[in-house]
Amino acid sequence: MSTLIRQDGFGYAFDSRACAECGGRCCTGESGNIFVKRSEIEALATYLQMEEAVFAQKYLLKKGYKYTLKEQRVGMSYDCIFYSRDAGGCVVYDVRPKQCRTFPFWDYFKNNMQELHDECPGIIDG
Ligand code: SF4
Ligand code: SF4
Repeated sequence: MSTLIRQDGFGYAFDSRACAECGGRCCTGESGNIFVKRSEIEALATYLQMEEAVFAQKYLLKKGYKYTLKEQRVGMSYDCIFYSRDAGGCVVYDVRPKQCRTFPFWDYFKNNMQELHDECPGIIDG
C-alpha cells in the first residue's frame, strides 16, 4: 500500500513513513499555536474523561478570542502538552485537533516551502 499522500491544490506529497523516524518534529521544537474549536475541546475533554472546565485550566491557553494547546518545555524545545517523548507520539491522537490532522497540507506552507522542508522530513516536492 502506498504511503504517499497528496492533496488537491498542493504542489508536494507527504510520505507518512517518515513519521516513524522523525521524533515528532511537528509537535515539538519552536513555540507555536495549535488552535482548538469548541467541538474539539469537548472531544478532547471527553476522551480524557475530564470536566471541560478542568480540562481547559490544565491544557488550554487563551490567545485573543481563541484557545490554543499549552506547551511543555523540554530542553530547548516547546513540546505540545500532548506529545509524549516516552510514548514517542501524541497521547490524544484519535481526537487530535483539525490543525494537527491536516498537517502538512496547510495553505500557509504553499508560500513557505523551505519552512515546511525544515520541519517535516516526509515532504516530497512535485
Ligand atoms: S514532522 Fe512530518 S514526518 Fe515528522 S511526525 Fe510530523 S508529519 Fe510525521
Ligand atoms: S495534539 Fe497531538 S498531534 Fe497535535 S501537536 Fe499536540 S501532540 Fe502533536
